[in-house]
Amino acid sequence: MATAAKGHRVRRRPGKPEPGSRPRAGTESPWTVSSVRGLRILQVAPFKKLAWLVHGFSTRTGGQSLLPSGERVLNLGVADWDSRENVLKNRRALQTAIDAEKLQLVPLRQFHSAVVHCFATAPAELCKGDAALTNSPGLLLGIQTADCVPILLVDPIKRVVAAVHAGWRGTLARIAEKTVGELRKRFRSDPRDLFAALGPAIGGCCYEVGTELVTQFSSQFADAEEWFDELRTGDEPNPLQWLNMMPPGHQPPAKNVRLDLRRANRAQLLAAGLSDKNIFVSDLCTACHLDLFFSYRKEADRSGRLMSLVGMQP
Ligand SMILES: [Zn+2]
Repeated sequence: MATAAKGHRVRRRPGKPEPGSRPRAGTESPWTVSSVRGLRILQVAPFKKLAWLVHGFSTRTGGQSLLPSGERVLNLGVADWDSRENVLKNRRALQTAIDAEKLQLVPLRQFHSAVVHCFATAPAELCKGDAALTNSPGLLLGIQTADCVPILLVDPIKRVVAAVHAGWRGTLARIAEKTVGELRKRFRSDPRDLFAALGPAIGGCCYEVGTELVTQFSSQFADAEEWFDELRTGDEPNPLQWLNMMPPGHQPPAKNVRLDLRRANRAQLLAAGLSDKNIFVSDLCTACHLDLFFSYRKEADRSGRLMSLVGMQP
């Protein structure tokens, strides 16, 4: 029912769990955390059941990298404060922890696009893009994040896997939907067969964005209003401007709105034909859990990178 006037209405409290993020009544959560050689890895049970599949979402625990604060972390992306050797060691440790040491890692040069690559073999150089798919056993697709949404997709029938990096730009450009489209086009995947896992990302509790994003998302998605805590577009009168008697130019800025990126991507996957029961959404917010994850919003240049991996055993 979308009959009420749009504008100032508060749709829901930020931080309310997304549908599918919590275990349904009488069922166990599909998410598991395991400690392997000092690392902590998040996985989903339905993926673990497939013996030929390897996957995992990293945390910041363990690793060789030394933050300026003195904390040792598992940084998996090249950063000014860390050495390339550390990052490569950390990546190898992560591969070992998920039993993927025999696979060849294929990361991307991510740039918040909707570019999807399909790999038959490992490329000689890093490819620019934000999603990858493969049906070649022995390749390990890797997505780096620190707040953005990592999405792993698995077609257990056609044996194809995909990894997606979805920040707000990629989400607006429909990268998740596009990746499902590529799976259909190239491998004749039936979306109803696909499994999707949306890993730790900044939640609707913490992800403040400018009100112009309400306009941008609403113009592209019929259900975009479900993904924001409020529907202000920035054009509404700002009562604070009249109350505080400050001269123009010195008034407080209009309050931002909060965007739930995982909810938006879950909606995209449903629109692409995936079954609700096959979509597993982590409810862990990277910005709320700095003990477990990296958050670019919270740590800026001192943030490390998490990595989400998926591949097939050679
Ligand atoms: Zn949060």
